[in-house]
Amino acid sequence: MSKYWSDFVHQLEPYVPGEQPKMDRLVKLNTNEHPLGPSPKVIEAIRGQADERLRLYPDPDSGELKQAIADYYSAQGHAIQRSQVFVGNGSDEVLAHAFHGLFQHDAPLLFPDISYSFYPVYCGLYGIDHEQVALDEQFQIRVEDYARPNGGIIFPNPNAPTGCLLPLDAIERLLQGSPDSVVLVDEAYIDFGGETAISLVDKYPNLLVTQTLSKSRSLAGLRVGIAVGHPDLIEALERIKNSFNSYPLDRMAIAGAAAAFADRAYFEQTCQQVITSREAVVAGLQGLGFEVLPSAANFVFARHPGKDAATLAAGLREQGVIVRHFKQPRIAQFLRITIGAPEQNQALLEALQGL
Ligand code: PMP
Repeated sequence: MSKYWSDFVHQLEPYVPGEQPKMDRLVKLNTNEHPLGPSPKVIEAIRGQADERLRLYPDPDSGELKQAIADYYSAQGHAIQRSQVFVGNGSDEVLAHAFHGLFQHDAPLLFPDISYSFYPVYCGLYGIDHEQVALDEQFQIRVEDYARPNGGIIFPNPNAPTGCLLPLDAIERLLQGSPDSVVLVDEAYIDFGGETAISLVDKYPNLLVTQTLSKSRSLAGLRVGIAVGHPDLIEALERIKNSFNSYPLDRMAIAGAAAAFADRAYFEQTCQQVITSREAVVAGLQGLGFEVLPSAANFVFARHPGKDAATLAAGLREQGVIVRHFKQPRIAQFLRITIGAPEQNQALLEALQGL
């Protein structure tokens, strides 16, 4: 607190990101990073930018990257134009612009009671009225609950921190129930087992899909996020961006991210490795008596009927294994565990055996 702060700053409740500990040799399974590194072609592309051209500003439009994204999705049969793509400094920034530019209306924004904890923070930052809609008993989104007047709808798919996936036909029903407001599907984890809603953007002008390169493309440190939707929605994001920071992506980020979209083979192979590991972790956890929610993400959400989650998280930490525990009452008995490399997953299961 300081007398120099504005009233606005006093009342903010900032997001608290997962811990990034400085110690070595930790088994770090707390922030859903990818256990395998990015494509070697990405590193090469970033290195290729480290020269005297750094004196020049980057392309404010990140055109090379937008084209790479349009090409990537077009090759998969979703004909996406550059005008349907927005890019930003991590999908958190893209989400922030969407909250600012697309969700300020008379009715409240709707999102699940259990979802990404940054959403209420953006509501606080931008003064957006919101209501949290309870997931059902199985921690699934009930589409019917969103068919009412709203100033927008947002949810992660797969959901975070549950990992549960909402199928595309359910997303279509949700879109049909709210044609007058923006529906934002936050696909931070979609590449680990879901089908992207990008296939629906031509049909639904109110659909915005965001993705990140932090998870499935193993580039959390580069900070690149994207949005795909109708050009009018994209223009709103561009207007906000160009009223805030014209150069959110630097030269390395543009080149590295474009190379990541171009190297489809590496991407598919490394995602598949995580999916295979996830199946092994789920089986290992179930073998230890855990109940694990069905996950389409690079993490699992698990609880043990006879053991307290906070105690388990503390016990794991003592053994150098860090997972995420949320204090929110409905999920206080769960642990969110990132899928790591096979030896990390093994270390996790061994550490749990003794607790
Ligand atoms: N959405 C969800 C659901 C997330 O879990 C995260 C990662 N914390 C993000 C968006 C933001 O990711 P990034 O800013 O790294 O793109």
